[in-house]
Amino acid sequence: MTFWGKGREPRLVSGMRCSKCDGPLVRIRRCTEVFLRCERCGARLEVRDYARYIDDSFEEDVAHVPMDRI
Ligand SMILES: [Zn+2]
Repeated sequence: MTFWGKGREPRLVSGMRCSKCDGPLVRIRRCTEVFLRCERCGARLEVRDYARYIDDSFEEDVAHVPMDRI
């Protein structure tokens, strides 16, 4: 599967589970957005819905993405 392209490896997010199937989530980072994707069912989940689970390192990464400009 080459969906992600080069240089943007999805990162498994520990401690967070899909709200639909309880599968593991990966953090996906693109040029203009960051979101979460379920490894099991492929559901896309908005970061804001999981904000309470986000740790400092996550916020640090997200801070570099200009989400507010969308
Ligand atoms: Zn799922």
